[in-house]
Amino acid sequence: MVENKKIILVGIPGVGKTTLLTTMVEILKNHKKNVVVINYGSLMFDVAKQNGLQDRDELRKLSVSEQQRLQKIAAEQISEHDEEVVIIDTHAFINSPEGYYPGLPEHVLKIIKPDNFVSVSAKPEEIYNRRMKDDTRNRDKITLANIKKELDVQSGMISACAVITGSPVRLVLNGEGKIDEAADKIIKAIGL
Ligand code: ATP
Ligand code: MG
Repeated sequence: MVENKKIILVGIPGVGKTTLLTTMVEILKNHKKNVVVINYGSLMFDVAKQNGLQDRDELRKLSVSEQQRLQKIAAEQISEHDEEVVIIDTHAFINSPEGYYPGLPEHVLKIIKPDNFVSVSAKPEEIYNRRMKDDTRNRDKITLANIKKELDVQSGMISACAVITGSPVRLVLNGEGKIDEAADKIIKAIGL
């Protein structure tokens, strides 16, 4: 059986996760790797749509118990993937009305069993500009102070994930105009 690696990639909104993953997949496919990227939020939204939710950005405003239910269903679907490299595009926490809510609580980690975590960050000013540029999303109010706070919360949440699972966390800076560099760094670090 081919070894299967599950990698969880987190980053606050607008840090460039999806952009980075598009580049990584291109590189990995050129190296004939059987790779799949799963967007956790999209998976949850697909389930929520069956219950009438219409806007993806409304997900984080659902009650915590409903988000937990959707999270569990998504985790079970992810655990069934057996491609060589499975990369999960997600958030270490969600900014919900009740407070910062973990994207990867223990019960989810136990289902997915990730081998590696990648925590993406960038300069707060760059994240600010990237969020302002992207008008396809219905984002929360954007301030530099909030972005700095979110980077802090991310660091705490992802450390907890590492302790729960025993899997390592690779920190990666997605510098302005340096997508290829960041993608290469992740691929080398994880040995993909
Ligand atoms: P979300 O959590 O909301 O899905 P995300 O982390 O997936 O956000 P992206 O959608 O990948 O973020 O990127 C947000 C914006 O930042 C996009 O317009 C993208 O082109 C730009 N961007 C991402 N990385 C870089 C980079 N290294 N240099 C310049 N622009 C970048
Ligand atoms: Mg994204």
